[in-house]
Amino acid sequence: MAALPEPSLIVSFEEARHLIEHHAAHLRPRGKELVELLEGVRQVLAEPVLADRHFPPFPRAMRDGYALRAADLSQLPATLEVIGEIKAGASNKDIPVLQPGQAVAIMTGAPAPPSADAVVMVEYTTRHGDRVQIAKGVMAGDNIVPAGSEAKRGQRLLSPGLRLDYAAIAVAASTGRSRLLVYRKPQVAVLATGDEIVDIDVSPGANQIRNSNSYSLAAQVQAAGGEPVLLPVAPDEPARLRELIADGLEVDLLLLAGGVSMGKYDLVEKVLAEFQAEFFFTGVLIQPGKPVVFGRVPCGAGALAREPGSPPAHTYFFGLPGNPVSTMVTFELFARPVIEALAGMTPRKLVFLNARLKTEIKTKTGLKRFLPAILSGEFEHAEVEVAGWHGSGDVAAMARANCYIVIPPDRERIAAGEWVPVLMM
Ligand code: AMP
Ligand code: MG
Repeated sequence: MAALPEPSLIVSFEEARHLIEHHAAHLRPRGKELVELLEGVRQVLAEPVLADRHFPPFPRAMRDGYALRAADLSQLPATLEVIGEIKAGASNKDIPVLQPGQAVAIMTGAPAPPSADAVVMVEYTTRHGDRVQIAKGVMAGDNIVPAGSEAKRGQRLLSPGLRLDYAAIAVAASTGRSRLLVYRKPQVAVLATGDEIVDIDVSPGANQIRNSNSYSLAAQVQAAGGEPVLLPVAPDEPARLRELIADGLEVDLLLLAGGVSMGKYDLVEKVLAEFQAEFFFTGVLIQPGKPVVFGRVPCGAGALAREPGSPPAHTYFFGLPGNPVSTMVTFELFARPVIEALAGMTPRKLVFLNARLKTEIKTKTGLKRFLPAILSGEFEHAEVEVAGWHGSGDVAAMARANCYIVIPPDRERIAAGEWVPVLMM
């Protein structure tokens, strides 16, 4: 029988995160592919996107009004001669040269004449035929965005590792990129375990439980930028569990759910140990989710030959607790950064916001708690309260929640009205 992990591998939340971040920093994505611009939404950029021209490409009027020389407004009101009109999209031959005392009507987005240094908003002007009276002064530069002030031609606008959101898509569109190189999504095996677990197309017996973990995990894997590979449910029996773990170790990451507690039939760690697993932690001082396991096995221990290139030396795994809320929370806290790294994303820190607690919380000390909670309130008055859950199996409470309240291990009671850290889902 292979060696079981040391019982001392129970770490604090912060230690666990640092371990994960350390390992994630050494992971590389598996390849690149070219996709159509809109297929790239939520994918991870694998190439830099450069400015193909100056941004803006010409000095751009920011307001409807009159382009003029600021110096002509030294005395107010001033009356200037209007020598024409410049529309957005006007060509250079339609842009007049202003002489002192002259102005030209101009529209938002139109090229400002090089002979003008400011635009006065139409609201401060009165037009009489070919003359305009101006009631308000301007500084040179007002309401004109100089060519190249947002970016110079050739400048890097987006870097590899960025997950493409709508603003990044706008940048790609403005540089004329109808296709983008993105990283291939990592494949993440999902393996639920438990003799009582039946799949959702089976009518459960009186004491059986439908498999929800494979589906919540698949959804979380997708949201994190991975591609879930659902394996059949493993019974609490070593031979079949071993076969399914071997299958799961053939892809980029293996997520197990259930079978990591102290029970007689919690076999996950024992079977992983047979694959020469190295365990980095086998428990974290948090609630929900304390029995969570993180480790890796050498490639070849369960995996088939991998793609050419520089094959990874290890396949990482997580043994997540089987209680559905614990499974979800531990995925977010620990598995997500590993998937993001395999997907090529630039690492990011976990950040907590603060909100006022709506109703008092009483709890026990010793563990850092991540309580499913509901963030509400209006405008800048964020309020938060626990989602009224009945323990780590309460998926319906979790479905009502939109964040977690984070409670430090040394707090027993938190009064209504206190500021509490909140982790967004
Ligand atoms: P375990 O971590 O295996 O001790 O499971 C803890 C609790 O979570 C038990 O009540 C299980 O029935 C439940 N559970 C385990 N796996 C799943 C699953 N895939 N779907 C729903 N509930 C599960
Ligand atoms: Mg179980």
